[in-house]
Amino acid sequence: MSILIKNIRLNGSVSDIYILGNKIEKIEKNIQIQADTIIDGSGKAAIPTFVNGHTHNAMTLFRGFAEDMRLEEWLNEKIWPHEAKLTEQDVYWGSRLGVLEMIKSGTTLFNDMYWHFHGTARAVEEMGIRAVLSAVLIDNFDPLAAQDARKNAEDLYEASKQYSSRIQFSMGPHAIYTVSADTLKWAKAFADQNNLPFHIHLSETEVEVNNAINNFGFRPVEYLEHLGILDENVIIAHGLWLSDHDIELLAKRKVKVVHNPNSNLKLASGYKFRYQELRDAGVCVALGTDGCSSSNNLDMLEAMKVASLLQKAWRYAPTSLPVDEAMQLGTENGGKMFGLKLGKIEEGYLADINLIDLSDPTLVPLHNLNANLVYSAGGGCIDTVICDGKVIMENRHVDGEEEIIKNAQETAMTWIKR
Ligand SMILES: [Zn+2]
Repeated sequence: MSILIKNIRLNGSVSDIYILGNKIEKIEKNIQIQADTIIDGSGKAAIPTFVNGHTHNAMTLFRGFAEDMRLEEWLNEKIWPHEAKLTEQDVYWGSRLGVLEMIKSGTTLFNDMYWHFHGTARAVEEMGIRAVLSAVLIDNFDPLAAQDARKNAEDLYEASKQYSSRIQFSMGPHAIYTVSADTLKWAKAFADQNNLPFHIHLSETEVEVNNAINNFGFRPVEYLEHLGILDENVIIAHGLWLSDHDIELLAKRKVKVVHNPNSNLKLASGYKFRYQELRDAGVCVALGTDGCSSSNNLDMLEAMKVASLLQKAWRYAPTSLPVDEAMQLGTENGGKMFGLKLGKIEEGYLADINLIDLSDPTLVPLHNLNANLVYSAGGGCIDTVICDGKVIMENRHVDGEEEIIKNAQETAMTWIKR
């Protein structure tokens, strides 16, 4: 399969892009070659697709369901009791809705942590995008629950081999306050044996840090260092409450950090994400939305804007997290985080490309495309999405979207009353 995109704006000039299989084969002016599909790129620009570094995709079903609440009430009264009633088929439709929203806002890879693994895996397979899907581990410090959680993770890993290379398996111990030290160490050993990422929520709130000091005698990052878990295959979601020593450890062990600005703001998790210190220490930082119960949407352009504005606000420095860096966090750094040649439009990179309609009012005039994308437009400016060398959205239409909207709506209404 091959695709030739003619006369497309790329990095400020106009050229052609030739895609062969799932890779970008050639970028040049006026390529003369036969291709299975030809796309007229005039009036459009090509940019890399976005990487959502941390989410709980099927939680689209919770969108607008529990708003403006204290964290404990929100979890205990709204999220956990209803989450327990979800079936794999509910998660499938919630995931299809999430994937639809991601495609429509230009994201082709997401890092997920949620129940009913196969519900999400099926949605990703069918809709043609990429995902890193975690087996969730929670034992609440109960040895019997730990046995079940481990067995479940092992079984899921074996079963995950049936899916295509667009799906990567990951170990997903939820957090240090829901998973015992033994299970954390077991999960890391299993990840190392099978060369898998290790994805965990860490240092999200001040309460988590204080409890870790009281219960374990360490701050959360120091605790994982003490357990021998930190290395370059560890991805931490949030990393909001970090000391200088925490940052030194993260840099030394090459741990990756995913910042989720909308979720942190909405749940009032504390707002001082130490982006500059992490970047200057050499830590790979990417961006995520977190689940739709705490960020309400999966729009990575919005996450880039909010991340940038937050840095400017708390540092009183308008030069903090400039647009080109915000774009890099949402694209290239996400690719690096998962070891994929993704997030750049260059020969040899995976063919994951967004085509932007430059006549969208939020993109006019065209002084600076990245500034227009990050500060002005939303995900709605994406016209065409290519993932793994296949067109998965054209003229803003995704195959089967009407059915997804109908079934996701029905699923949400029946599950909530169960
Ligand atoms: Zn999360």
